[in-house]
Amino acid sequence: MRRLKISIRPVPLVAAMAAATLAALGAAPAASASPPALPAPGLQETNPQEAATILIRAARLIDGNGTLIEPGNILVAGERIVAVGPAALEPPNDGFIDLGDVTILPGLIDLHTHLTDRVGTHWEEVLITTTPAQAALWGAANALTTLRSGFTTVRDMGPTWPYTDVDLRDVINAGVIPGPRMQVAGNYVSATGGAGDARQFSIYVDVPVVRNLADGVDAVRAAVRTNHKNGADFTKILATGAVLSRGLPPGAQQYSDAELAVAVEETNRWGRFTAAHAHGTEGIKAAIRAGVRTVDHGSMLDDEAIEMLLESDYTYYVPTLYVGVIVPRGGAALGVPEEQIRRSTEMMRYRNATFRRAMEAGLTVGFGTDAGVFEHGHNAREFQIRVENGQSEMDAITSATSISAMIMGWEADVGSLEAGKYADVIAVSGNPLDDITALERVIWVMKGGEVYKGARPAG
Ligand SMILES: [Zn+2]
Repeated sequence: MRRLKISIRPVPLVAAMAAATLAALGAAPAASASPPALPAPGLQETNPQEAATILIRAARLIDGNGTLIEPGNILVAGERIVAVGPAALEPPNDGFIDLGDVTILPGLIDLHTHLTDRVGTHWEEVLITTTPAQAALWGAANALTTLRSGFTTVRDMGPTWPYTDVDLRDVINAGVIPGPRMQVAGNYVSATGGAGDARQFSIYVDVPVVRNLADGVDAVRAAVRTNHKNGADFTKILATGAVLSRGLPPGAQQYSDAELAVAVEETNRWGRFTAAHAHGTEGIKAAIRAGVRTVDHGSMLDDEAIEMLLESDYTYYVPTLYVGVIVPRGGAALGVPEEQIRRSTEMMRYRNATFRRAMEAGLTVGFGTDAGVFEHGHNAREFQIRVENGQSEMDAITSATSISAMIMGWEADVGSLEAGKYADVIAVSGNPLDDITALERVIWVMKGGEVYKGARPAG
C-alpha cells in the first residue's frame, strides 16, 4: 500500500528569515504559509540594477546540477547570481575576482550538523558542565569555521541546551556574526531513556529549564508545538536509540508508530518538515511510514526500507558515514566513552554496506555529517568515504548541493549556480572530479555576494 503523499513545502528562505525576524521582534507570528515579505536585517534584498556587479573568473565550474562548465565564470550582482558560464564572459562589471586554475561550485550544504556542540565535551555532560551561553558562543565560532570550510548552508540537528541554535540562526541572519544559512531543530524530541535523553545523572539531580523528553502522543504533540512556537524550523525526532548515548541501543525503535505519526502530523500543520534520527531497521521503516522528510543516519536499511524510499517522492535518506569511521578510530580523543565507541564499531558493519546497497539501487540521498561529534570544518571528509563506497564524484557533489537544497525546501535560493539564486559560491584548487578530497581544502568562500575566505574583488 502506498502512503499518501503530503505536499508540504516550507516557506521560502527569505520569507522564513523575515518570519524569524518578526518573531525576534516580538511581533505576532504569521498566521498562514505566506508571512509578510519583510527582509531580515543584513539580508536586505538588493536591486540588481543598483547593486555592484562582480565577475568571478575560474577555469571551470560544477553547477550543482551535475554539469561541468568551462570556463567557470559567474556574474554576481549584490547578493544574487545574474549569469553563469559563457553568458558571464564580458559583463559591464564593477570589479572582478580572477581565481585562476580552480573549480568553483555552489556553497556546500550539510543536512546534519550540531553547531552549538563543542568537540571533546560529550553531549550527555553538557547539562551539568556547561552553560547555554557557552553553547551560543562556541556556536558562533563553529558557524564561522563551517562557513569558511565551504558549507554555506546547514540544517542543524539540535543543541543540548534547547533553542541556542535558534538564537545562533537569528544573529547570523541579522548580520551580527558570520555563519552559514541555517534551519534549526530547536529542541529535539526524545523519549525518556532514549537517544536524546541527556539526563544521564543521578535521579536526584534535575535541570528544570530543560524539557526535551516527551512520552505518549499527547506529550509528543505538545513538544512539537512548543518547539515551533519557540522558533524551530523543523522537527527532529529520535525514532531509534543512538550510537553516542547511554540510552537504549541504536538498533531499537524508540518511538511507537503512533508517536511518530503525531509528530509528523503536527509538524505538517506548521508547514514544516520532520527529520528522524534512525539507525535500526524497524525504526527507519516506522519513520518512513509516518511521513518524515529525512531518515538521518539510516544505518540499517534493509531491502524493504530501500524499496520504500525508492517509492517515496518525499522521504530521503541522509547517511552520515565519516562519523561512523572516525569514532571507532579516534573516539577517545573526541571525548566519546568506551561503551559508545563499542556501539559505533558494531554499527560500522552496517553503515557503509547500507550505503553501497543504496547506491546500487539508485537511491537519491541527501548529504549529512554529524559535525560537532567530530571537528567542525571537517564536514567535507564525508565525500571521500562516499566515493569509496560507490557514489561518483559528481553525484556526491550534487547530493551536497542541489539535492540537499531540495530536501530543505530551499531549492529556489541555494544549491546550484544559476541566475537568481544567492551568490553562495566556493572554490577549490584543481578538479574535485579527479580528486574528491579537494573539497576538504576550500580556498575561497562567498556567501550572498560577500567574500568570507580568499581573494576579494579588484577592479
Ligand atoms: Zn546528530
